[in-house]
Amino acid sequence: HAKGEGRNTFKFYVPKMDANADKRLLLETSLRKALDNEEFRVYYQPKVDITTKQITAMEALLRWQHPTLGLVAPSEFIPLAEETGLIVPIGEWVLRAACLQNRKWLEMGLPPMKVAVNLSGYQFQQPNLLDIIRTVLADTGLDPGLLELEITESVIMQNPDFAVAVLAEIRDLGIHISIDDFGTGYSSLAHLKRFSINTLKIDKSFVRDVEINSADAAIATAIIAMGNSLNLKVIAEGVETEGQLTFLSENKCDEVQGFLFSTPMPSEDVADFLRGRTTLVAPVSLNSAP
Ligand code: C2E
Ligand code: MG
Ligand code: MG
Ligand code: MG
Repeated sequence: HAKGEGRNTFKFYVPKMDANADKRLLLETSLRKALDNEEFRVYYQPKVDITTKQITAMEALLRWQHPTLGLVAPSEFIPLAEETGLIVPIGEWVLRAACLQNRKWLEMGLPPMKVAVNLSGYQFQQPNLLDIIRTVLADTGLDPGLLELEITESVIMQNPDFAVAVLAEIRDLGIHISIDDFGTGYSSLAHLKRFSINTLKIDKSFVRDVEINSADAAIATAIIAMGNSLNLKVIAEGVETEGQLTFLSENKCDEVQGFLFSTPMPSEDVADFLRGRTTLVAPVSLNSAP
């Protein structure tokens, strides 16, 4: 019986591994050509001030429109891009695209908002990161105050001393810095106070059950309290329900982001999205629908 099971498992497992290996190879080969073939798209998801409901920023989220595989999620190709080093040119492309897009929105007369770009760990370690950022800002003419960089807590905590230095250089350019996925990366308070950062972004894993799980609620409120006392803004990601929004508002979270307000959208939809919001005319109360 056990033997038969083992054989079945074996038969099943090998082709699956091959399929995964094939897909990986296909992804890796096509990832090298994706930039040249203009297969990347940037989607944008708003960050919302919890009190005024104004849009403070648009986060750039990368999408890959693969010719045969269709839309590939960042979770499937960002790790691969990191392993192959391709994240450096891809990341520079995203940064440039997002800065250019923000210039365009300004020129269209939209109210000024930051554009937030995710930086991977591999990019963060590149010695020429600052040169790239300076060049992109100079080329696009975007005010550095309208750029925000998101770096995950785990990347920063890999080498806190190095991070202190790089973050200070980035901040000296006038760029905002957020710590993404905060709460998952074991920052100590001692480290946190040394980082030149503006915002803590509560990871969506704590937001999801914040109303029903007392541990998640405790973590979220602790992050908010810590951020407030360190003079940092706190934003919650992954906000999907009015209940989560109410909890975060009652606990003095500054900003929110999530499907409740908008899923990530193509740049062409942003102007309509902003126009469709009565909140741009007059702030509405928290309990009315966004
Ligand atoms: P992230 O930066 O933490 O982005 C948040 C992810 O949560 C995004 O997934 C977003 O679409 C998703 N999300 C937003 N609102 C909600 C919500 O209400 N509920 C739920 N369940 N999910 C929500 P996405 O776009 O698939 O990106 C996943 C990750 O890929 C990002 O996590 C980021 O780490 C990475 N990524 C995306 N674009 C880039 C990029 O240009 N460069 C780098 N280095 N990484 C990127
Ligand atoms: Mg992010
Ligand atoms: Mg995040
Ligand atoms: Mg995340």
